[in-house]
Amino acid sequence: MNRLQNKTAVITGGSSGIGFETARQFLAEGAKVIIIGRNKDELDNAVGELGEGAYAVEADVSKVDAIKAMRGKIEKIFPSLDILFVNAGIAKFAAIEDVTEEWFDNQFNTNFKGAYFTIQQLLPLFKGSGSIILNASLNAHIGRPTASIYGATKGALLTLAKNLSAELMPRKIRVNAVSAGPVDTPLHHKKGLTPDQQVQDHENFKTIIPIGRMGDPSEIAKAVLFFASDDAPFIVGAEILADGGMSL
Ligand code: NAD
Repeated sequence: MNRLQNKTAVITGGSSGIGFETARQFLAEGAKVIIIGRNKDELDNAVGELGEGAYAVEADVSKVDAIKAMRGKIEKIFPSLDILFVNAGIAKFAAIEDVTEEWFDNQFNTNFKGAYFTIQQLLPLFKGSGSIILNASLNAHIGRPTASIYGATKGALLTLAKNLSAELMPRKIRVNAVSAGPVDTPLHHKKGLTPDQQVQDHENFKTIIPIGRMGDPSEIAKAVLFFASDDAPFIVGAEILADGGMSL
């Protein structure tokens, strides 16, 4: 229970879903954790639930100025950083004919540009060795109607994990990625579906995921924890695909 003893970690999008569960597991392993999010009430609730060792910083990671301001606030809490889980993301699905420039930019700005500049801005806080984990997706690997933009943002993250691994190797910072299949989180309630459609959506996943159910956020958090910990010192530029067999 102390695989992250005395480590400091930042988790973007940490007030819900996979990010929140990862914060919980990191804290249980002895780390101190800052969660990043856009909504103060959600952050306050999450920090209250997470308890001692959890801190919150409000920031919209789709905007570079906000990321720069976020770095200053993080630095005041943790002068040095050991772990960064780049997790904040949105998932919107639309046929190519329906995609507007604004819609395109919104997803790339959050999922890829936000990830890129979060890493750039927080890198100076890594004073020694460290671990950066990117939350990509199964959608980077499989073709699905309406997933062209979301899948592309996640594919870009996988490429980034490999290139930054090479670039940050001399600084002893490992970069890896986790790609989940469908996981039961609030993300699936933000697709603009009616309550009935949401129930149907959930049922559909049971039939298309070979293991017969959606993933649980804790199952993804365990993969992130593995990359973050000293259990993975020789693992660089790698990816864990946790998808209940959907890519088989
Ligand atoms: P979630 O909606 O609970 O978590 C996403 C978090 O990111 C939220 O807390 C949200 O507020 C935050 N966020 C979004 N935009 C932000 C911004 N601009 N600035 C700051 N925070 C922002 O859903 P989740 O499923 O836990 O998603 C976490 C990550 O996992 C996402 O990157 C998602 O693409 C990825 N993922 C999810 C699934 C799934 O099926 N749930 C599968 C594969 C990958």
